[in-house]
Amino acid sequence: MTRTVYLNGDYLPEDEAKVSVFDRSFLMADGVYEVTSVLGGKLIDFNGHLVRLERSLNELDMEKPEAFDELLEIHRKLVELNDIEDGLIYLQVSRGSAGDRDFAFPDPELVKPTLVLFTQNKPGLADSPAAQAGIKIISIEDIRWGRRDIKTVQLLYPSMGKMMAKKAGCDDAWMVEDGAVTEGTSNNAYIVKGGKIITRHLSTDILHGITRAAVLRFAREAQMEVEERAFTIEEAQDADEAFITSASSFVMPVVEIDGKPLGDGAPGSVALRLREIYLDESRKVAI
Ligand code: PMP
Repeated sequence: MTRTVYLNGDYLPEDEAKVSVFDRSFLMADGVYEVTSVLGGKLIDFNGHLVRLERSLNELDMEKPEAFDELLEIHRKLVELNDIEDGLIYLQVSRGSAGDRDFAFPDPELVKPTLVLFTQNKPGLADSPAAQAGIKIISIEDIRWGRRDIKTVQLLYPSMGKMMAKKAGCDDAWMVEDGAVTEGTSNNAYIVKGGKIITRHLSTDILHGITRAAVLRFAREAQMEVEERAFTIEEAQDADEAFITSASSFVMPVVEIDGKPLGDGAPGSVALRLREIYLDESRKVAI
């Protein structure tokens, strides 16, 4: 089945959707994005993603795409057209194409944003074998720009980080700045010590994960103790367990950091419980 994608108001077969070579996301990484998961044909945490998208656009003085208020409808239509039971919807807004290359932002009255959405079909997304086995991570230096709270398409360093992890026989990397873990290449990072869940506090140093917000809320509702502060790789290696969260991995246990197994080397009970709670509760309110 050919995938149907959305581009600036049109639903098109993927090979017919064309964006200008002058588009600023292509030339300047001048674009923002969101990834929303689909379980059972329904959108998980959609409103959180929409609110963060609006914030990213505001922070970059980027116009909202004309179809902003129709985004729920567009997501749902793509799920239907592509027959997605479980999967992901990728959304990208760029500052558009001024028909040439220029560092200065184009006049928003003349140049409209480019809005693209496409689906990724992932049957059984919530039953991934990785969640049962847990993932292995390495630590790398965090050399990204200083506004990681904005979800831009500048994903070169996260891509390089994933390649470094792959080369080391691992699944992902946690980034470290000034001695402390910031976050994973495409996820938020957590450790658990003595039953307490520890994750870095929100600031411009990390992306404010939509899954993070939901998971911390569920953890507190379940009377689990949560501490939002920075931690080191050494502290993580000495923790009882660790995990990551993101819209595509939900809650994923980490079983090894820089070659050192955590606890007994199996996924931790807090991570597995939070994964179950997150999936159950999110499915209930999926739209
Ligand atoms: N941090 C980074 C750097 C990310 O790329 C992501 C995934 N987009 C996250 C955290 C997790 O955010 P969310 O839970 O909203 O997917």
